[in-house]
Amino acid sequence: TDNSVPANFDSGVKVVVRMRPLRHDKEEVDSSGVKKISNDSLFINGQNFTFDSVADTNATQLDIFELVGAPLVENCLAGFNSSVFAYGQTGSGKTYTIWGPPNSLSEDNLTNDQRGLTPRVFERLFSRIDEEQTKRSDQQLKYQCRCSFIEIYNEQITDLLDPNQRNLQIREDVKSGVYVENLTEEPVCSMKDVTQLLIKGLSNRRVGATSINSESSRSHTVFTCVVESRCKSSADGISRFKTSRINLVDLAGSERQKLTGAAGERLKEAGNINRSLSQLGNLINILAEVSQTGKQRHIPYRDSKLTFLLQDSLGGNAKLTMVCAISPAQSCRNETFSTLRFAQRAK
Ligand code: ADP
Ligand code: MG
Repeated sequence: TDNSVPANFDSGVKVVVRMRPLRHDKEEVDSSGVKKISNDSLFINGQNFTFDSVADTNATQLDIFELVGAPLVENCLAGFNSSVFAYGQTGSGKTYTIWGPPNSLSEDNLTNDQRGLTPRVFERLFSRIDEEQTKRSDQQLKYQCRCSFIEIYNEQITDLLDPNQRNLQIREDVKSGVYVENLTEEPVCSMKDVTQLLIKGLSNRRVGATSINSESSRSHTVFTCVVESRCKSSADGISRFKTSRINLVDLAGSERQKLTGAAGERLKEAGNINRSLSQLGNLINILAEVSQTGKQRHIPYRDSKLTFLLQDSLGGNAKLTMVCAISPAQSCRNETFSTLRFAQRAK
């Protein structure tokens, strides 16, 4: 494949910052810490940062859906591969944003207020698909969706829908593009189907989502849906196919993994996490630069499993939103600053 990006290409990288509420029982107010100064800017350590949008501690899960999830669904239906990445230190609200808190997903109650982006995205996707199919029934427009769910830990891919499948390999061929060999792909056509997959997959992560410094904070979790449509034109009777993807990605904690004192596997793992996040940052930075300067550049997709796997969703015909999660706590100020600096590079 040609990994260079065309000169007239719009990187489509959107950056949204979300500040979670302070936990008053455990955290100190930081009076000289990060401050939201407008709907798209923040101030910290004497520096202003401007993004596409800044959501403060009052932003609800629904607000984040309207800001990030609803456009994602429309982009996907328009034929773009569309992704959301949650970036930030452990405890900043990435998992809360992407999936929602642990008890918000249930097969008996599909409309909990606390639900995160993923269930809301699928609720919208299915209702929009219904709408489109009805509107264009004369063209026999039909959609089909199938989902997969993986965890990337220490550069190894595990199938969260079948956790016996560890260390899966990424392959590439002309017909299918980049794919994970032997990965489970489940067809879905309702919220119930998706909710079941989410509950199953999330429970198969290395360690529960809430324990700080757990292995789960050192892995990336990627939920992918392939959306295929077939449309038969009444004019010429020819069937046309379209495929696009949705990726929802809960990244490993961005705090620098300590190399000092680590040995063996742990040392290798720490290096892998630092590298895969910084490679994602570099790649997004290059995409942003290409869109600003119009210069062709080689894109280093193969440098990590995450970017290799998602290369068709990063650049080219793709839309990408980074939700950078930050905490207002004093103890988090350094990490907050470095998250905002990372986010700035994507613009
Ligand atoms: P991360 O995945 O980045 O490590 P979590 O999403 O697990 O962080 O969030 C850490 C804690 O803060 C969790 O208990 C979560 O429920 C809570 N939390 C995060 N963001 C919010 C928010 N916007 N509103 C309320 N609670 C939140
Ligand atoms: Mg998490």
